[in-house]
Amino acid sequence: MTRLPTFFVSHGSPMLALDAGNAGRVWAAIGHDVPRPRAVLMVSAHWHHPGSAVGGTAKPETIHDFGGFPDELYTLHYDAPGAPEVAHEIPALLTTHGYAPAIDAERGLDHGAWVPLRVMYPNADVPVLQLALDMRQGPAWHYRLGQALAALRDAGILIVGSGSLTHNLRDVFAPPAVIPDYVTPFQDWMHARLDLHDVDALLDYRRQAPHAVRAHPSEEHLLPLYVALGAAAGERVTRLHDEVTERVLAMDVYRFG
Ligand code: ZN
Repeated sequence: MTRLPTFFVSHGSPMLALDAGNAGRVWAAIGHDVPRPRAVLMVSAHWHHPGSAVGGTAKPETIHDFGGFPDELYTLHYDAPGAPEVAHEIPALLTTHGYAPAIDAERGLDHGAWVPLRVMYPNADVPVLQLALDMRQGPAWHYRLGQALAALRDAGILIVGSGSLTHNLRDVFAPPAVIPDYVTPFQDWMHARLDLHDVDALLDYRRQAPHAVRAHPSEEHLLPLYVALGAAAGERVTRLHDEVTERVLAMDVYRFG
């Protein structure tokens, strides 16, 4: 079986479930272009568990983990099967690397997972499972978690980190009259460091990247990128999409490997 690449997608507002726009065209192309995986392992910004956790559900439900959106959004669902057998392979794979994720037999799919997946695999015929972030940990821990997961790529598992290249919700919902231009400098810095494979700088982005704390007041939307990057450490980096929506949400998509 060929080694699959990994991806980081910016999932944007839940409204992208109704029209995913330009980013959606890129998500759809991933579904077309990558050899059909045995399962998709989604590392979403919206699931956190100390020490990480794997979703072991046979039929994951669609979680509408957002409020204040049009009713139509709450009627959408994504009925792909789970992958409990893959879920049970993961803790054994990770133990030798010092990780001990729990298995959550009830876990559904949050919008960071199902919004892009509905576009990538609209027939909902590729099994999917989620992996949780540990919000007590930073980029280095998540990068090494990705490295520990890399062997799954040889077993037909498509690893997708789902977050946002910039994510300041205050600037989305209560924008100041003039939003300082932090989005593009942050995007450019990340792209340049990814292009150079400058992992040391990337892991230290919070100190080194321009406007890092404004771009990510909290880190959960960037940490999935480190998992995807770690799982393809040292391999080719391709930016597939580069766009800013809602004035401040960078929607970049990366392919690793
Ligand atoms: Zn999100």
